[in-house]
Amino acid sequence: MYAGPSTPNAPIILPICTICLRQHRHTMPVIQFPVRRTWDDKYNTHCKRINKAIHTRNSGITLCSLWQCECGCHEKHNHMHRCSGCGATTHGASKCPRAQNVTTTNTI
Ligand SMILES: [Zn+2]
Ligand SMILES: [Zn+2]
Ligand SMILES: [Zn+2]
Repeated sequence: MYAGPSTPNAPIILPICTICLRQHRHTMPVIQFPVRRTWDDKYNTHCKRINKAIHTRNSGITLCSLWQCECGCHEKHNHMHRCSGCGATTHGASKCPRAQNVTTTNTI
C-alpha cells in the first residue's frame, strides 16, 4: 500500500518566501504559522497566506503570486500587482529591497 510521495500545495516555487522575504523556504508551512515580522525582524510583514493565495494583512486584497516572481506577470489586474513583502507597486517580492540577499556586496 504505497501511496507515493505527497505533493506540496505550492504551485509556484519562489527563491524567497513571499511573506517574510527569507531566502530559504520554511520547514513549517506559513499557512499554519502566521509570520508577523520579516526575516530580519525589521518590518512587520505586509501579507499573510490563505491557502495558496497571498492577502494583504490590513485590507485583505488578494495579490498576484506571479507578480512576486522575477518573471513578473502580464495580466492587466494592476491592483493585484503589489509586493507581498512591503506593498510597493513597483516590484514583486523577488525584487524587494527588504528581501534577504545572499550577495551583500552590492551596497547602493
Ligand atoms: Zn516566510
Ligand atoms: Zn498578475
Ligand atoms: Zn517590496
